[in-house]
Amino acid sequence: MSGLFGCIDRAEVPSEVAKTLYYGIFSLQHRGQESAGIAVNHDGTFMVHKQAGMVADIFDEVTLNTLEGRCGIAHTRGGEETGSDAIQPVLIKSRVGNIALSCDSVILNSYDIRENLKNLGAIFQTNTDSEIILSLFSRNRIVTDDCEHALLKTMQEMEGVYSIIMMTEDKLIGVRDPHGLRPLALGRKDDKWMLSSENCAFDALGAEFVRDLEPGEIISISNDGVESLFYEENKTSEQRVKDGKVCIFEYVYVARPDSFIDGTSIFDSRYKTGMALAKEHPCDCDLVIGAPDSGNAAALGFADGLGVPFGMGLLKNRYVGRTFIKSTQEQRELAVRMKFAVLKTAVKDKRIAIVDDSLVRGTTTKHIIRFLKDNGAKEVHVRLASPQVKFPCCYGVNASAGKDLPAKTMTDDQICEMIGADSLGYISLDSLRESLEGIHCGTCSACFDNNYVAGLPTEDPETVHKVTYN
Ligand code: SF4
Repeated sequence: MSGLFGCIDRAEVPSEVAKTLYYGIFSLQHRGQESAGIAVNHDGTFMVHKQAGMVADIFDEVTLNTLEGRCGIAHTRGGEETGSDAIQPVLIKSRVGNIALSCDSVILNSYDIRENLKNLGAIFQTNTDSEIILSLFSRNRIVTDDCEHALLKTMQEMEGVYSIIMMTEDKLIGVRDPHGLRPLALGRKDDKWMLSSENCAFDALGAEFVRDLEPGEIISISNDGVESLFYEENKTSEQRVKDGKVCIFEYVYVARPDSFIDGTSIFDSRYKTGMALAKEHPCDCDLVIGAPDSGNAAALGFADGLGVPFGMGLLKNRYVGRTFIKSTQEQRELAVRMKFAVLKTAVKDKRIAIVDDSLVRGTTTKHIIRFLKDNGAKEVHVRLASPQVKFPCCYGVNASAGKDLPAKTMTDDQICEMIGADSLGYISLDSLRESLEGIHCGTCSACFDNNYVAGLPTEDPETVHKVTYN
């Protein structure tokens, strides 16, 4: 998973595009903490600065000042790929000029595309989707009239889910996949036009949210204007949006609570999920707490639904990276202890209901319950703001393989016992969907119902969601 941001300044004298990009990806840091990068177009010369680490550690004032330009794209990346190859944006010099690309993608037929291109003489240096997309795009650009049609042809050859931001020598281009599984939004502040994975970045920059891109939309912004081309031109705009299938986990866990995606507020949907949970799985408790931070909004709804106080019980250390050695049970426990702290006086002698966004492997939940009980909680009831995660995600959002998912093989009671809770309740998928009031499109919920809306990769999704081909 990644956070994408792009900006083009159409003012006669462009101002501080690199800083806009910096604050853009800074606001999207929750979508990926492994690496980040910014590329700018300075009168046709492309410059990039990128490396492993968090956004604030990679860029300083001096670096940003060197990244002068009227247009730029930025990327913050999560996931398990390591090595500098995976760090974006990626820059290439094609026969039709400089291109920079950032993408958040899983190309399901990447193996076939790669093999076909190799048979045509292409050479690949990495296993990344960005290289496949650029390779297809460069070839298609030679036989099409413009970049937008080259991208359209590329989309017709790719199966999968993606959002893409591309910079050419005169344009900023955004692409949302035909399923609309990944979000991408358009924003504006004066002469600056922006593209972002989430609109929370526009708010941080004082920019206005214009709209979400439609599924299958290729939007192109240049000094000549803003234009769109669609993967399914024969459908009406309303139909394209209605047929979209955004990842339901955006609402459950991924997106920032102050964002809106496809017509629905993330915070409101989480709050409503909590209210619904209170109806479906009430419990006798003295205090409702959230598993920080993504469980908080649902916990508030759960507390209001039950008429029980909502309070703090756990604190999250925001400065914990992923640097822990976790090879032994003791080290894993220490990692959780470093990440979460219990407020002893708040939980002592109380019956606690803790609301979390989801339970994937259950390891962290188990440790948290232990900490709460070690600190005097009389009972700990666990409520989940999503249904049982039974199937792996082959679209790169939830990284667990099927064999790691307890809900696939265990009953709720067995999981409750495994994590040491006094009771356990999951929201139903129907109630989760109902909580997305006002959503313009459908959702992917394959990790709950096995309905893979964008199809399956060539490989078995139980064992792989990202494949090493060589
Ligand atoms: S399988 Fe689950 S996590 Fe993956 S895209 Fe679909 S809803 Fe999102």
